[in-house]
Amino acid sequence: MMRSSWFAAAAAVGLCAGGPASAVELSAVNQAGLIGAVDADAPHISEVALKIWAAPELGYQETKTTALLQDELRAAGFAIEAGVAGMPTAFVARAGTGDGPVIAILAEMDALPGMSQEAVPDRTPIAGQIAGHACGHHLFGTGAVAAAVAIKSWLESSGTKGQIRVYGTPAEEGGGGKVYMVRAGLFKDVDATLYWHPGDANNASQDRNLATTSAKFRFHGQSAHAAAAPDRGRSALDAVEAMNFMVNYMREHMPQDARIHYVITNGGAAPNIVPDFAESYYVVRHPDPRVTGELFARVVKAAQGAALGTETKMDYELIGGTYSALPNDVLGRVMDTSLRRVGAPSWTPAEMQFGEKLQKNLPGPRLPALASAGGIRKYEYNGQKYSSTDSGDVSWVTPLATLNAATWVPGTAAHSWQAVAAGGTSIGTKAMVVAAKTLALAGAQLFADPALIAAAKAEFDKSRGPGFVYKPLVGERAPPLNYRNNATGPDAG
Ligand SMILES: [Zn+2]
Repeated sequence: MMRSSWFAAAAAVGLCAGGPASAVELSAVNQAGLIGAVDADAPHISEVALKIWAAPELGYQETKTTALLQDELRAAGFAIEAGVAGMPTAFVARAGTGDGPVIAILAEMDALPGMSQEAVPDRTPIAGQIAGHACGHHLFGTGAVAAAVAIKSWLESSGTKGQIRVYGTPAEEGGGGKVYMVRAGLFKDVDATLYWHPGDANNASQDRNLATTSAKFRFHGQSAHAAAAPDRGRSALDAVEAMNFMVNYMREHMPQDARIHYVITNGGAAPNIVPDFAESYYVVRHPDPRVTGELFARVVKAAQGAALGTETKMDYELIGGTYSALPNDVLGRVMDTSLRRVGAPSWTPAEMQFGEKLQKNLPGPRLPALASAGGIRKYEYNGQKYSSTDSGDVSWVTPLATLNAATWVPGTAAHSWQAVAAGGTSIGTKAMVVAAKTLALAGAQLFADPALIAAAKAEFDKSRGPGFVYKPLVGERAPPLNYRNNATGPDAG
């Protein structure tokens, strides 16, 4: 029964017309063992996740979080290489043998600025807390670790060859940690990569999303008394406004799927001083990384024009750049089969009550039914989503598949206080356990059947196209380790 579904995954992309080379079924005993291992670990890993939730850390500042995740992996016997690719909080953890497939699991960990919220269904910020896990990365990282630990003990007990890795990837929210790990070649020998993301539904759909380029545009003018000597001043804020004005006109003349957004991160100090410095932080997105680059070049022209017209000087710093996701159907189907085997989370009456109360605080009009958190959505492939993630870069150097689990009340958007709230309860940890089990099954299935990995790679090569060479959109810049020091809000993810 299982055999035919794994086979269908490869057959669906026309890679095994003559039948699979070796469709090896992960035995029911092995599946039960993996699920049981995560179940046994569930109370502990839920505690770890909630500890991270209670002490949220911003991108590249995840020192306590990364230490907690690394401690878990070390205790389970993983060898850890910390501080990789020039990022103190990034790590690669390895376990297994050196003579089989290499499967990686991604672990994100950063929180978002200004998103503080108690684990209650009404808006209640936590006094003195400057961040919150509004994207659920406390669950993301911990769930990834739990899955890898289960796979490691299964590799050992079953005598299966291969290496399981966890990539601790910092600063997903705009800092692009994975981009620097990919650029450093850390995925070079990885055969397939799996990850999951918290959400408000359960599904293993594999979609495209948006490539991004972000930059801070800085204008330098002349300060002067704004009333007594305005003619001697040249306003950097005028330049920012002129730039934004031109970009806003540009919207009518750009491809439909493009997105451009900005915030003014510095607009001067006082109205009676002509601002001699102002800064605007831009993000440009489009499904095609090449179009993103073309649009960004037009935004730079608007900045140059604004500087010319206001007699200010402009420079800009490229902050980040990520590829759009390259979906993989073979791995997606492995993930979908695994998710259906594990099953969706089921809520207690108290959790239902929490959900009902929280839904009253969600903008309508059409909210999904609470019961949908207990279901699994249809598997879909190659749809267009409008988010972005630095996992995009990973998907262009190794076959990659993702998974969503309902850690939030249905109808909750990522990056909202409602996401922080549910993520701090058993609703969040329950779905994390589902995700960990699913990743464990999917990973073990790939180790057990290398033909699946070969099929995923063949699809990957075809999707990338011949002669593809990965070039990071961030160029040679160093990881922006201090991008959160003047916290201005998320710009990607
Ligand atoms: Zn996220």
